[in-house]
Amino acid sequence: MTHTRNTPASAAPEPFPSRESSTTPPSASEEASPGESDDRSTRAAAEAMTVRPLRDRRYVVETDGGTYVVALDAGTCTCPDHAIRGSRCKHIRRVAMEVTAGAVPAPDERVGACAVCGAETFVPFDAGGARLCDRHAFEPGAVARDRETGERLVVVDVTAERADAYRTGEGRTVAEYATNADYGAHEPVVEAVYAASVRPGRSVEDCDRYGFPASRLTRRGE
Ligand SMILES: [Zn+2]
Ligand SMILES: [Zn+2]
Repeated sequence: MTHTRNTPASAAPEPFPSRESSTTPPSASEEASPGESDDRSTRAAAEAMTVRPLRDRRYVVETDGGTYVVALDAGTCTCPDHAIRGSRCKHIRRVAMEVTAGAVPAPDERVGACAVCGAETFVPFDAGGARLCDRHAFEPGAVARDRETGERLVVVDVTAERADAYRTGEGRTVAEYATNADYGAHEPVVEAVYAASVRPGRSVEDCDRYGFPASRLTRRGE
């Protein structure tokens, strides 16, 4: 049994995935006239461009005509179209489209890896610690099953603390418990209460919380 801790421990931040951050000077080959808004949107969607997020929340946009850097928050681009006309160029539009489509992280997000399956997932930019993809995350209030005991639990919180950093009330890390040996020490700890302990007149907050490595719990029905 793994009791939740009283002493919070901070988890080490995840390293950034390696990314190049090269840029080339703006090319003068771009042609765009003011007022061609629809045309720009069409080209932004249709033209061959590669968008990559940088570590400083900006984006590199590679095109046949050159490579530019877009700051979506500030609405700026290093291309001549933007520099000369101050317009919302096709590069800014393209970055916005890819963010909307979920192809690249938003400026307040970065690329992280799911601690359970390794899948790429967008996480809050400043988030440290272990993270889960949509497939392996739990919503607070979700019912889950403990793989070890088969018992049903109600998820209270998915922490960003790793199982080998999160300390229980007994002063041990979640990863140190023998029943957690089969689960990743790098996984985030999920706090949950036993479903059986939630009774009429007794809220989830009143129940004892326990911490589990994320993959020890399964969503009900999986
Ligand atoms: Zn541009
Ligand atoms: Zn995953």
